[in-house]
Amino acid sequence: ERIGFALVGLGAYALNQIAPNLANTRGCKLAAVVSGNAEKAGRVAAAYGLGKEHVYSYDDFDRIADDPAVDVVYIILPNAFHREWTERAFAAGKHVLCEKPMAGTPADCEAMIAAGERAGKKLMIGYRAQFDPYNLEAIKAVRGGDGTDGEIGVPRIVVSDHGRILDLAVTRDQWRAKKELACGGSLYDIGIYSVNGARYLLGEEPTETTARYLPRSDRPQVTVEEGVEWQMTFPSGAVASCTSSYRVAGNKRIHVQGAEGEVTLDPATDYYIRNLKIQSGDKTRDVEIPQANQFAAMLDEMATAVRENRDPKTPGAEGLRDVRIMTAIYKAAETGEAVKM
Ligand code: NAD
Repeated sequence: ERIGFALVGLGAYALNQIAPNLANTRGCKLAAVVSGNAEKAGRVAAAYGLGKEHVYSYDDFDRIADDPAVDVVYIILPNAFHREWTERAFAAGKHVLCEKPMAGTPADCEAMIAAGERAGKKLMIGYRAQFDPYNLEAIKAVRGGDGTDGEIGVPRIVVSDHGRILDLAVTRDQWRAKKELACGGSLYDIGIYSVNGARYLLGEEPTETTARYLPRSDRPQVTVEEGVEWQMTFPSGAVASCTSSYRVAGNKRIHVQGAEGEVTLDPATDYYIRNLKIQSGDKTRDVEIPQANQFAAMLDEMATAVRENRDPKTPGAEGLRDVRIMTAIYKAAETGEAVKM
């Protein structure tokens, strides 16, 4: 029996990436849709062969408690709604998969984790890159295993950039421009991939950050930051140097330099295109992994965690760590001082 997922929010990511990729999983199925737009919800339900009884509005969502087809509620709404909808889904007795960034503040994240614990249900954050075979191969090259160093030797420097143009003509970027809906700017939206990437590639937690804001555009509709440059220091002595920007053409790069080589993921966090180059001493190889579907792998992890009654690989605590770090990065950019974590 496949685990049933209800999608809350039928925006770009839900409709273009998640709904179609549920069909590529081993153990998941689309079981319900939740939307503020009845016409759109009806159209999506018909396209995926869902009965009318599995179509919910935001107002009548709470009756999903009585829908046995739904095991997991997947929240794909603007960031400011992640906490409220996670709490509603737990109150309805469902497990929750919630998109990144987890929520606006560490306190919101802690409340979400506590709600899951009270309900006795699983909470996972949608960190697809941690299920991507290319990123997993990069982790191996950086961290090695069984007490041996990875191919690049001891990792010392991470350089990572994520950028794209924030386009106010596009619906999905309109809420991203507003602090009250997006909670943060480029860092929250895409810089989070550099924060999370540095952490999973090095396998350790940063202890200090310095940061500054990059120059902004003169668009009054944009009330979030449009660019940040920041550094993170790790206990091993490794450092990460990162940028996020809403004012450069798309880039999604993570690069790790070690004592004996380097790993380049460029793009690192694209949906379908990844390039991984591993250089070790005088040997260089390009890694090709066929059929690397990070969406299906992520969705199947949630389904397996539910089935096996265990914590998923990227639980609420993982989302909280990034929100704490991003809060520290913003504080460092505001004050111009290093912030300890
Ligand atoms: P989107 O604007 O395309 O979709 C958001 C949905 O929320 C829309 O259907 C919209 O109608 C609905 N919504 C409900 N109330 C709203 C309100 N008050 N204002 C605006 N929209 C409202 O955005 P998206 O790109 O699909 O992003 C949704 C979430 O998914 C965000 O949290 C984002 O960070 C995350 N996301 C993750 C990835 C990833 O790769 N993991 C990629 C894209 C988006």
